[in-house]
Amino acid sequence: MLDYVDLEADLSAEERLIRDTAREFVADKLESEIGEHWIEGTFPTDLIPEMGDLGFYAPNLEGYGLPGVSETAYGLLMAELEACDSGLRSMASVQGALVMYPIHAYGSEAQKDDWLEPLGAGEAVGCFGLTEPQHGSNPSGMETTAKHDDDGYVLNGSKTWITNAPIADVALVWARVTDGDGADDGSVRGFLVETDREGVTTNEIKEKLSLRASITGEIGLNGVHVPEESVLPGVEGMKGPLACLTQARYGIAWGTVGAARNCFETARQYALDREQFGGPIARFQLQQEKLAEMATQITLAQLLAHRLADLKERGDLRPQQVSMAKRNNVRVARNQSRIAREILGGNGITADYSPMRHLTNMETVYTYEGTHDIHSLILGQDLTGVAAFE
Ligand code: FAD
Repeated sequence: MLDYVDLEADLSAEERLIRDTAREFVADKLESEIGEHWIEGTFPTDLIPEMGDLGFYAPNLEGYGLPGVSETAYGLLMAELEACDSGLRSMASVQGALVMYPIHAYGSEAQKDDWLEPLGAGEAVGCFGLTEPQHGSNPSGMETTAKHDDDGYVLNGSKTWITNAPIADVALVWARVTDGDGADDGSVRGFLVETDREGVTTNEIKEKLSLRASITGEIGLNGVHVPEESVLPGVEGMKGPLACLTQARYGIAWGTVGAARNCFETARQYALDREQFGGPIARFQLQQEKLAEMATQITLAQLLAHRLADLKERGDLRPQQVSMAKRNNVRVARNQSRIAREILGGNGITADYSPMRHLTNMETVYTYEGTHDIHSLILGQDLTGVAAFE
C-alpha cells in the first residue's frame, strides 16, 4: 500500500491494529461485493452490528463503552473504510461523528445512557438532519420549526439528502425553536427524534448516480411531538451542527486519501498486468508520469491528514484547518480517481474495478459536508479577514 514517506514508522501498535482490523474486515466481508451493492443501490445493512463489534463507530470518543483511541487511529480507520467505498465510510462517519459525537458532547446523561451504547454497538442506527430542500450551503436559513408546547415541542418541516435516514432508529434533527405563538426566537436546537414517532416519514432517494452504496433519504416532520428531554441541552445555535460537521469533515479528510490510494493501487497493478504493443503499459513514460503524479498528490494528502491528527490530539485543531484538508483531499481523490480510471482504459468504466465507482462517489463527497466552494470561502475569510458569504 502506498506509503511513500514511511508514515507507518510513526504509528503505535494500537493504531496499526485498528487499521489492520478495518483492512481485513473490508477484504473478508465487502471487497468482492461492493461493486454489486453500488450497482444495486444497496448498503450491506447486515454488517452494521459487526462494524459496531469491531469498534468502527466513534472509537475516538471515551466512556459509554467507547475506547477513546487516538485521532490518528480514527483517521486510519476512516481511510480503510473509504478505500472500500465512500458509502461505507459515510455510514460510520454519520453514526460516529454526526450522531454519537453530539450526544457525547452536548447530550444529557439520560440521552448518553439511552443512545451511546446501542449506537456504538450498531444495534441502533442514527442520522443527522440538517440540510433542507431550500437550504443546503446555508443551513442557517432552515425553516424546520420546533414549537414549544406544555410538555415538549412539536416539530414541523422537512430535511433532505439525509444519509441513513430510511434505516435510522433516531434522527438528530436541527430545528429553529419558536414560542407557543409561533414567534421565532431564533435559536437552533438539536432534537433526538425516534423515527417511529407519529408524523415522521423517511423516504429513500433512489436515483442517485453517486454514493450508490449508501442509503439516503428525506425526513418529513409533520406535527411530530417530542418530549422536553429530547432536546440536546448542551448547545444552542448553529455552532451545534457546525461543530459536528468539523468532526465529520476530519474523517472525510482521512477517508478520501484511502479512496485515492485504492485507485492508485488498482491503476499501478493494472499498468503492470495490461500488455499493449508487446509489453506492459507500465513501461510507457506517459503512464509512469500519471502514476508519479498520483503517488505525489496522495502522499501530500496523507501528510496533511496526519498533521491534522496531531493538532486534533493536542486540542489545537481549528475548523478552518479541517476545511483546508477536506477541500484539498477530496479534490485529490476526485482528480486522481479520474486518472486511475483513464489508466484502466475501457475496463476502467466497469464496476469490476474500483476507480470509476470512487470517481462518481467523489461527486457527492465534493458536495456534502460543505461544498468545495464553501470551504474556499471559509479559507478565504480566514486568510483575509473578510467574509464573502454572510
Ligand atoms: P446548494 O447550496 O444549492 O449549492 C449549489 C451550488 O452553489 C454549489 O456548487 C455550491 O458550492 C454553490 N454555492 C452555494 N452558495 C455559494 C456561495 N455563497 N458562493 C459560491 N458558491 C455557492 N445533509 C445532511 O444534513 N445530512 C446528511 O446526512 C447528508 N448526506 C448527504 C448525502 C448525499 C448523497 C448528498 C448528495 C448530500 C448529503 N447532504 C446531507 C446534503 C449536503 O450537505 C448538501 O447537498 C450540501 O450542503 C450542498 O447543498 P445543496 O445541495 O443544497 O447545494
